Amino acid sequence: MSAKLIDGKKIAAEIRGLVAVRVKELLDTHGCQPGLAVIIIGEDPASQVYVRNKRSACEETGIRSVAYDLPATTTQDELLALIENLNNNDDIDGILVQTPVPDAIDIETIIESIRADKDVDGFHPYNIGRLAVRVPALRSCTPYGVMKLLESTGEKFYGREALVVGASNHVGRPMALELLLAGCTISVCHRFTRNLEEWVKRSDIVVVAAGKQGLVKGEWIKPGATVIDIGIHRTESGKLVGDVDFSTAQQRAAWITPVPGGVGPMTVAMLLQNTVDAALIRRGFKDSGKRTVDLSRA
Ligand code: NAD
Repeated sequence: MSAKLIDGKKIAAEIRGLVAVRVKELLDTHGCQPGLAVIIIGEDPASQVYVRNKRSACEETGIRSVAYDLPATTTQDELLALIENLNNNDDIDGILVQTPVPDAIDIETIIESIRADKDVDGFHPYNIGRLAVRVPALRSCTPYGVMKLLESTGEKFYGREALVVGASNHVGRPMALELLLAGCTISVCHRFTRNLEEWVKRSDIVVVAAGKQGLVKGEWIKPGATVIDIGIHRTESGKLVGDVDFSTAQQRAAWITPVPGGVGPMTVAMLLQNTVDAALIRRGFKDSGKRTVDLSRA
């Protein structure tokens, strides 16, 4: 079997196109342009690339991107003061702090200081909590993007066994909540899991976000499974690869995401979608999601 590729680049471009239409509508109908504040602290080269991509994606879709490039010496209090300011700024709909941040700054305190309705990364405990109780508001970008990729396959999720490898606050945990919401029976593996191979072998859907190059061997993949690789690593030769051994996994899976061109572009696309949603909800043009728990969801 040779797996079909899930083309994240194409799906992300379609989402960005829809975002651009919604931004124009908001501008034409209500005269407001969504604004996203992107904060970066220090000069980490990978973070600089991510931030550049996010800012140019904003420009492409008509979202106003406001740049805050802060020195590595920025203190937690200085950052909290900036966020307080942005929380109260009516022209700002979304606030994003690029990670990692310098050691002197506690990222969880920073995330909790962002107004939940401007938390377009979907990392705030309020937004994670809304996802946990089946009334999602602003959803974590990478897991939300993965769900769009899974939906694009046209496969049904209800009752399927889904495994998330990785249990971080920003990726693995909300990913598991998304899959649960979609009706999957979920398992989560992490650094203390014994016998990862057995967990992978029985799973219909495998989503890997461990940050370990080639961790999941292709031979472990159940024939016909769907494989989503969130990991991203640059090899010594400069090639981008993921957490899954792609060439052998591709021989067994029914669907698989490539690295690059799989999950990566979706993260940015969902950030833009969240920014427009945040703008509409905060300005009262869109409901923030059903407050009654949807019991048709798992
Ligand atoms: P993290 O380091 O915060 O978390 C890694 C998780 O993997 C932890 O829960 C850890 O317990 C688990 N883990 C580590 N070794 C393991 C092992 N041997 N077996 C099973 N589990 C193991 O990382 P993160 O922020 O969640 O990111 C994970 C990866 O996803 C990284 O490669 C990151 O670059 C990538 N990422 C990509 C995107 C994207 O848009 N493509 C977005 C976010 C993160």
